[in-house]
Amino acid sequence: MNARTKSQSAFDRAKQVIPGGVNSPARAFGGVGGTPVFIARGERQFLYDIDGNRYLDYVGSWGPHILGHRHPKVITAIQEALETGTSFGAPTEQESVLAELIVDAVPSIEKVRMVNSGTEATMSAIRVARGFTGRDLIVKFAGCYHGHVDSLLVQAGSGALTLGTPSSPGVPEGCTKDTLVLSYNKVEELQGAFRQHGDKIACVILEPVVGNMGVVVPTEAFLQALRSLCTEHGSVLIFDEVMTGFRVAFGGAQERFGVTPDMTTLGKIVGGGLPVGAYGGRQDIMDKVSPVGPVYQAGTLSGNPLATASGIATLQTLKDENPYPQLEELSRKLCAGLSDAAQQAGLDHTVAQVGSMFTLFFNPDPVTSYAVSAKNNTERFSRYFHGMLNRGYYLPCSQFEANFLSAAHTDEDVQATIEAAREVLSEIG
Ligand SMILES: *Cc1c(COP(=O)(O)O)cnc(C)c1O
Repeated sequence: MNARTKSQSAFDRAKQVIPGGVNSPARAFGGVGGTPVFIARGERQFLYDIDGNRYLDYVGSWGPHILGHRHPKVITAIQEALETGTSFGAPTEQESVLAELIVDAVPSIEKVRMVNSGTEATMSAIRVARGFTGRDLIVKFAGCYHGHVDSLLVQAGSGALTLGTPSSPGVPEGCTKDTLVLSYNKVEELQGAFRQHGDKIACVILEPVVGNMGVVVPTEAFLQALRSLCTEHGSVLIFDEVMTGFRVAFGGAQERFGVTPDMTTLGKIVGGGLPVGAYGGRQDIMDKVSPVGPVYQAGTLSGNPLATASGIATLQTLKDENPYPQLEELSRKLCAGLSDAAQQAGLDHTVAQVGSMFTLFFNPDPVTSYAVSAKNNTERFSRYFHGMLNRGYYLPCSQFEANFLSAAHTDEDVQATIEAAREVLSEIG
């Protein structure tokens, strides 16, 4: 492995003109220390940095690259779209193709509106839910991240957890006074909140598998309680599937667990690496959206032709090739290997995995909620992270993030990763 001297200079330069040298704090290595790796290019399951090092990538741009980097079908689709123009501010037929793919795939979505990021999707979804119900109160869960929406930036997972700022300055109290924060997987707490506030709750929003405090799996009882309480009280149940959509199953967590929310937010994979988000749901709810209904939401670049082409190619390839069984099997194998390696090194740990997203927690207890996740040994994680990085494995630079496998990862990749982890973990054990 070459020294990362060019990354170091690039970072110094970036810090002069970009806050922290990064355009999103999750990239800054804040939780693990050291210098972010500056990337020159990606190809299939690999990233190449500007010093010429190659890494096996377990971040996948934080979720979008389920097909790996530069999948030929996606690249060709973007190139073809580029020949027709980059933005028209008028409808195209391709937008309906993408919408039809989404509606067919995601059980809860009868109509869908495209936006430009996951943040925009969740922000818009809660506005629609409030407009639909005529209520203000929203319920979220500690450790779930829904983008940097003011009203949802309370105990908001990964980036914020890593930096130790549970909430953000610049968000007026007025923005969060109607946000109720509960504990993930705690059915009694949820029942209590509905008993007390049920007729005021516009919506409940959650990650149906959490990725943003590390991977946390929902209990069936929790999902069932969410569904029945929202139905009973006329509240809109929103699954934030920005990460899990097209990831834990083609139809997302709702397909996998058989629980159908009223609304769903999407991002990441739905854009195949270009900036895309989407929100959708029941027709009666989505018909509240302007221009059919009174709830305003708009976007100059929404449904952008390049992004739409990338999204269509990605979803169509996933549909045609169905990589999900293979992703599941490889992920299981990797997680079993990592767990065994940590065990042999005598390290307290627990592994959570759903489909091709997983986290190795340096935590003795199964992580079921933010309260447990907060007990992770982050110092140990930093040493693991840097040990792996130095061996050419690019993991998320925070204990509070999900790792992702792509369809480009091979059995040999997984075996090599386990062997590298064995070395690293035995050194820190
Ligand atoms: C990434 C993410 C978001 C935010 O999406 P952006 O495109 O970064 O704005 C929202 N919700 C969840 C669950 C996410 O993982």
